[in-house]
Amino acid sequence: MENNFQSHHVKNLNQNFITRDSKFRFRCTECGDCCRNKKLDDMILLTTIDLYRLCRVLDMETTDVVRKYCDMIPGRESMLPLLVMKQHLDGSCIFLKKGRCTVHDGKPLICTMYPLGRISLLNEERGEHEYHYFLKDFKSEGCRAADDEEYSVDEWLGKYNIEQYDECSRLYARLGNACSKLMHSLSTDEQRREMFTTSFFMMFLKYDRNEPLQEQLETNLAYVQSLKPELFFEKRTVKS
Ligand code: SF4
Ligand code: SF4
Repeated sequence: MENNFQSHHVKNLNQNFITRDSKFRFRCTECGDCCRNKKLDDMILLTTIDLYRLCRVLDMETTDVVRKYCDMIPGRESMLPLLVMKQHLDGSCIFLKKGRCTVHDGKPLICTMYPLGRISLLNEERGEHEYHYFLKDFKSEGCRAADDEEYSVDEWLGKYNIEQYDECSRLYARLGNACSKLMHSLSTDEQRREMFTTSFFMMFLKYDRNEPLQEQLETNLAYVQSLKPELFFEKRTVKS
């Protein structure tokens, strides 16, 4: 599982993970069906990385993209604000126009990666989180992809340059976990309300689309940790 705060991303942990050299046949015919008739539990949960990519492709400020294209919902376990992409009343994605995705080059990573999915799990030996990939059952999901192209997992990730965001994804997970940890440490509703607003700002809004994302995530994480350092850093005693 990615982490506590992102556990809602994971629908099913009994996935059949595949290796990076596993092959699959897939060519998106751009029918747009997977972008229509979305049910409530199919809503696309956005990360900061998704938002940053959308801001760049739309050439819009973060606050404007959030206001126009996103809804905020409170996460139950994490107690954090979560961001989902708006849908039209018929259940189609807000970015689907005339059957085509209008943010193709900046669409959320979950759309870019399809039909692959991934889960981040802790490798206890190395003490690091690692991604594990699985192939979605796209045929039974009604996907109308053709099968005249073949890719390995590595080739698919490389084709869309997905791994360039891996370090940012890890930092975003750490930032979310830090906000959630702080939130759970608070005792009054007023403190929690304030932290909810701070979390929303630090997780989604305080980013400049014209600057590299990784440094901004590092700065925001350091700020959140500085709010209650005793929660995040062990005290060291100096022996004389
Ligand atoms: S962002 Fe694009 S690919 Fe993703 S659901 Fe919306 S229209 Fe479809
Ligand atoms: S349903 Fe399949 S073929 Fe159609 S747009 Fe989505 S991924 Fe592509």
